[in-house]
Amino acid sequence: DYFREKGQAGFVPGTENVLPSLQEKEKMLAVCFDCPGGPENLYVKEVMKPHPEEGEVLVKVSASALNRADLLQRRGKYPPPKGASDILGLEAAGSVAGLGPGCKGRWKTGDAVMALLSGGGQAEYVTVPEGYLMPIPNDMTFIQAAAIPEAWLTAFQLLHFVGKIQKGERVLIHAGASGVGIAAIQLVKLAKAIPIVTAGTQEKLKAAANAGAAAGFNYKNEDFSEKVLAFTQGSGVDIILDCVGGSHWEKNLNCLSTDGRWIIYGLLSGGEVHGDLLAGLLSKRASIQTSLLRSRDKEYKERLVKAFTEDALPYFSGGTSPHLQPVVDSVYPLHEIAEAHRIMEENKNIGKIVIEMPA
Ligand code: NAP
Repeated sequence: DYFREKGQAGFVPGTENVLPSLQEKEKMLAVCFDCPGGPENLYVKEVMKPHPEEGEVLVKVSASALNRADLLQRRGKYPPPKGASDILGLEAAGSVAGLGPGCKGRWKTGDAVMALLSGGGQAEYVTVPEGYLMPIPNDMTFIQAAAIPEAWLTAFQLLHFVGKIQKGERVLIHAGASGVGIAAIQLVKLAKAIPIVTAGTQEKLKAAANAGAAAGFNYKNEDFSEKVLAFTQGSGVDIILDCVGGSHWEKNLNCLSTDGRWIIYGLLSGGEVHGDLLAGLLSKRASIQTSLLRSRDKEYKERLVKAFTEDALPYFSGGTSPHLQPVVDSVYPLHEIAEAHRIMEENKNIGKIVIEMPA
């Protein structure tokens, strides 16, 4: 028997011949890997469908999206937090398919929702605390909606909860054409502040400009810090959203304003720093803050989802000004998950890579 062989939860001894159709309904497809490594280790298999527990909602997933965290997790470098699903996928869009006990009545079966997840999104079904769900804005497809939760909530959190962004401030956003970068540009503009970006290609700088960046610099062939200082008439930026880390530290310090806030939320180039970082920070009275969303507690995530739903989500609906828009780079069917990982690993995507579930 498949489930006994795999030693999976859900197998009830003695039901082998009695309940095949029930067991059939209890299964779903999900992205899995057995040992850490490259994209070739990923495959789609049948696993047990989850059941919503107290205060949780069962979502039938139509689309999910890829994040750098998935790549790290696949390589064994970012294990899911305690209690989270070990299936990949930090976000999903789909329909409510069931409610656990104790749900407060905000959602009903059939509602179109998108969700922030601690894992489990790249599967046909996922369970999620009801407070992590958001309604899908009018006229938006599941594919577009799947591109919102993780990137936009991260950017919103960094700007408002961590960075306390103020009107008129200048914000430097590294990886300006990344999923988080494209969201951050638009949210900086929504906050009536000024987004400035770096990216590694002209095409990405153009995409960032289309999203609303006031200026953009190619960090590969120019000193972005000197360009930023020139653009800001010598005063530098008030906030840096930094997912790059080590390779950019001296340039970040160079173009950070006095009392500037440098927010580290990723280390794409590594975390090692060789030089007098502390003296540089002190001379500018600058602060470094760091942030990870996935490991935040439930109360924090619910507060973030609520704030985003109230303050940003209305701007995704047609006719608003400013108008917020998720940018979808490409869409891959579930069974092409390995190729989707390769594209992200090669830094090819502009905006989000979306994974579509089988109908
Ligand atoms: P993404 O869409 O895959 O984009 C990442 C981009 O970063 C790449 O396309 C590449 O663009 C740039 N990049 C890669 N390596 C680089 C390097 N060594 N130096 C400079 N730029 C580099 O990424 P994402 O999913 O939006 O995530 C962006 C970052 O946010 C990641 O570091 C991720 O781990 C982090 N993140 C953190 C949190 C949190 O809570 N802390 C949450 C979500 C995401 P170029 O071609 O422009 O170089």
